[in-house]
Amino acid sequence: MKKIDEFLAGVHRAAIAGHVHPDGDCVGSVMGTWLYLRDNFPEIQADVYLEQPSSKFGFIEGFDRIHTEVREDDYDLLILLDISSRDRIGVAGELVEKAGKTLCFDHHKTNTDSYTWKFNIPEASSASEVVFDFMDPEKISEKCAEALYMGMAHDTGIFQYSCTSPKTMRSAALLMEKGIPFSRIVDNTFYQKTEVQNRILGEVLSNMQTMFDGKLIIGIAAYENLERLGCSAADTDGIVSQLRNTKDAEAALFLYEKEPGCFKASLRSKEYADVSKVASDFGGGGHVRAAGCTVNGTAEEVLKRLTERIGQEL
Ligand code: 5GP
Ligand code: MN
Repeated sequence: MKKIDEFLAGVHRAAIAGHVHPDGDCVGSVMGTWLYLRDNFPEIQADVYLEQPSSKFGFIEGFDRIHTEVREDDYDLLILLDISSRDRIGVAGELVEKAGKTLCFDHHKTNTDSYTWKFNIPEASSASEVVFDFMDPEKISEKCAEALYMGMAHDTGIFQYSCTSPKTMRSAALLMEKGIPFSRIVDNTFYQKTEVQNRILGEVLSNMQTMFDGKLIIGIAAYENLERLGCSAADTDGIVSQLRNTKDAEAALFLYEKEPGCFKASLRSKEYADVSKVASDFGGGGHVRAAGCTVNGTAEEVLKRLTERIGQEL
């Protein structure tokens, strides 16, 4: 098995980036990689590029070193994590052409783009688990372990979803042995909700709809509701999982109206529906049990188009 160290030979300047609307695995894998370089390769100048992540991730060391705009463009190496597709890299997207080499660690079966080196393992729970395998366990510091553990915990729904494997647990155990405050990480970044987050969750749940004999659960956060509550996209994280928890549901669809007439769709399934196929048909992507896409139109139009397609998977 190759180690990340091999790709760093001769590298003086590296950029590290994830995907737009960074989630726990994106922040965890990106910051874990940055911390691994900082701790073991101090001679390399490494910059992190991400869209501003939620402040709940602020305990991760180096959080205040995240750049939200490109500051240089002559990097020897660009490391990409959890991106799923090239058009989702966001701020650092322009660096793909400009960097000397590109190295991608991912776990999205819909990631079909080419890079100098690409390790895309759809069976892995998380990008954090993928990049962990390329690290020397002895060189992982407690701070690096905190970031990677958070990434694995988030993408597995706290080691619950079917993407969790015995290997995921062994990797997480090794990180735990570094002495990380794992209970606090999970509580503060996964379960804890702000007042606004609980209010929007409550509104969406109380207006949820069901289709296909209750096999599909639908929730919508309309632009006007989000405006009224002062909600950001990040405030709706986790709503789709709660919809999915409904008894007898196989799939959940959550629509978030980013701009009037523009909906971000989050899709989840439990046992057999392949939601990545649905998302791909609408120009998005993701995993078999968790995927997303953006669809334009009125709420009624978007719902009709998406639910017709989801119905084929049910
Ligand atoms: P979420 O619903 O949490 O935004 O995303 C679920 C999964 O689908 C994540 O792994 C995310 O990276 C992927 N995903 C969400 N939206 C898109 C999209 O528009 N395009 C692609 N390619 N992947 C997406
Ligand atoms: Mn991920």
